[in-house]
Amino acid sequence: MSQTDMVSTKADLPPAPTGLSPDALFDKCNALARNLWWSWQPEVINLFRDLDPIRWRQLDHNPIALLSEFTPERLEMRAAELVLFSRINHAFRRLKEYMTETATWARTHVGVLGSKPVAYFSLEFGVHESVPIYSGGLGVLSGDHIKSASGLGVPLVAIGLFYDQGYFKQHLNAEGYQQEEYLDTKVENLPMEPARGTDGKPITIEIPTRNRPLLAKVWLMHVGRVELYLLDCDVKENSPEDRELTSRLYGGDNRTRIRQELVAGVGGIRALKALGIKPGVYHLNEGHSGFATLEAIRERMSDDGMSFDDALRNVARHTVFTTHTPVPAGHDRFDGGLIEEHLGPLRDQLGISFDQLMGLGRVEPQNGNETFCMTVLGLKLSRRANAVSNLHGHVSRRMWAHLWPWRVEEEIPIGHITNGVHVKSWLAWQMQQLYDRHFPANWIKRTGEPEVWQHIYDTDPGELWETHNALKNLLLAFVRRRVSRQCRRRGENDDAVEAARNVLDPNILTLGFGRRFATYKRADLILRDADRMAKLVNDPKRPVQIIFAGKAHPADEPGKQLIKRIANMRHDSRFAGRITFVEDYDINVCRHLIQGVDVWLNNPRRPLEASGTSGQKAVLNGALNLSILDGWWAEAYDGSNGFAIGKGTQHVDDTLTDSRDGKDLYRVLEEEVIPLYYDRDIDGLPQHWIRRMMNSISSLAWRFSADRMVADYVRTAYLPAAGGLSCEMNIH
Ligand SMILES: *Cc1c(COP(=O)(O)O)cnc(C)c1O
Repeated sequence: MSQTDMVSTKADLPPAPTGLSPDALFDKCNALARNLWWSWQPEVINLFRDLDPIRWRQLDHNPIALLSEFTPERLEMRAAELVLFSRINHAFRRLKEYMTETATWARTHVGVLGSKPVAYFSLEFGVHESVPIYSGGLGVLSGDHIKSASGLGVPLVAIGLFYDQGYFKQHLNAEGYQQEEYLDTKVENLPMEPARGTDGKPITIEIPTRNRPLLAKVWLMHVGRVELYLLDCDVKENSPEDRELTSRLYGGDNRTRIRQELVAGVGGIRALKALGIKPGVYHLNEGHSGFATLEAIRERMSDDGMSFDDALRNVARHTVFTTHTPVPAGHDRFDGGLIEEHLGPLRDQLGISFDQLMGLGRVEPQNGNETFCMTVLGLKLSRRANAVSNLHGHVSRRMWAHLWPWRVEEEIPIGHITNGVHVKSWLAWQMQQLYDRHFPANWIKRTGEPEVWQHIYDTDPGELWETHNALKNLLLAFVRRRVSRQCRRRGENDDAVEAARNVLDPNILTLGFGRRFATYKRADLILRDADRMAKLVNDPKRPVQIIFAGKAHPADEPGKQLIKRIANMRHDSRFAGRITFVEDYDINVCRHLIQGVDVWLNNPRRPLEASGTSGQKAVLNGALNLSILDGWWAEAYDGSNGFAIGKGTQHVDDTLTDSRDGKDLYRVLEEEVIPLYYDRDIDGLPQHWIRRMMNSISSLAWRFSADRMVADYVRTAYLPAAGGLSCEMNIH
């Protein structure tokens, strides 16, 4: 915050009306910006935005970057103009109160966790768009998990990697083909500081390999009450190549991948040790960080004098493993050479043979042809494993049944805890204000409780509809701004830019589809029969429009072709202005979409969507889900809280499945969704639709909240693991 130095005329300025000096005001704003707590406080977000709305948008809603453009004196002037002093003071006081609050849910619910926190490992964290260290759903889930843990007061520290280039920014070229751009993140604009060890010095940890050791420094980010530690290989003692090891998320080959996972897992445990943190539970969010268990075993052997077998059992009892991947090909696998190169020195210290080590990552330990699978490691080295929805639990038990050949499928020890979303992060503040008027006081602290949400039926239908439409208008303004910018960037002519400024119509039923363009998600399902779709889109009385967004993995050529096809529909006169593609899907784009659409569309090929969470975000804001009965929707849909495509069956033949699902999608649109939306009373209100919005909110918002999810983890996984309770699972 060097801006302070630039000012030399402090003495000439009148004192601030509150008695706060400009410096003190500036410090308060910076303190707010340096704890990501602000990112789920509408009042604080609005405060930052009001300081300079245009720069706020241009700077990706990054308050540190914004404040770096202010001197304390200019900030004070701006605050005086806008009468912000009391808002700044109030926000600052609330942050202080939050950080010191003791009467949390956890105080009465976490018993044995007490002083030994959960160490939550994940390779990506999606906390806010201004901190680009996530790619998609997994990262956003981790972010929501730690935000809820913070709110509930669950003792938890999080460990991940810092990627200075993050994931790519997406642009489409004139042909509609995806271009990937990696930008260097300015570290000084992120709410991070070097983490300090027990000796007060910044930490650097070292991980031996068969070649040169890998070094990593450790950053600390405050996410409310949760400390998020991020390892970063950009240290000068590393080789130039290794300095870039943690530059990009999901960049590089398998060797890069294992090295990243080595840093996150083994490095993560070493970082905790240097920090003086002794976790009571290790939670591996996906197999990526599984090497952590091996280092934890080594620690117990060297610190507590345990044998390898005892240490393994002990670590497993304290480890919780969450699997997210319903397809075998989606699991990380490494060959023996990579394993020995990176885990050889650790293996020496563990005193086990190469085959023993490989056996920990193999279904058949003796099978020399089998590669090392991180999910197998996670399953073997945890006593508690879970999938992320009820259906995914079934799929995972079937997929891993061969690890327990003597058991029937129902007894495979993989349970499920369905994902949820952090309500305060995804709920539009306009909607929150509506809820504030009708829900019990302090409801926002009880979002995981069903009773709270029943009060949606106390709201006036017209009021709910009006709020929804206000949000829809904001979304359309956002889309128009984005797509006209996209046109300008591609150098299109003025007519095209002007047309982009006028796309979409607020009176038309609006569907949203935003997610990764993996082919199993079938973004183009709704376009399978272009003529039938054109009829729906252009119906004179009851038209439909669609907003698409999403990135394809850089190596996913079919995914990129899908994007191209959809993006180019704007050139087809039947769809122009009614089917749009918003580039660079991220947390910000997602938030706009799920807050403003009428219908959130999700049509993966069942059962490949482990859970999905974007539809849960849409629920909070009154959008209705129209989805295949897959992932979370298979357990959420009750016939009156949204729409189902098909009956939750799947065919062995993908072509048949796609064809049948496509027809079902058109049918439900034509027979249910469109008629219900356009069925208006004399005041123009779609009463039956609004009723369905209320059913959706009351039956789903609490169940699929991250507060409910984290509470489930505490009760069914963390507490037993912290107590070191053994469950029947014993597979070693
Ligand atoms: C919520 C979210 C996701 C996850 O959405 P799915 O429903 O799992 O596809 C992905 N990306 C971003 C940016 C999100 O905010």
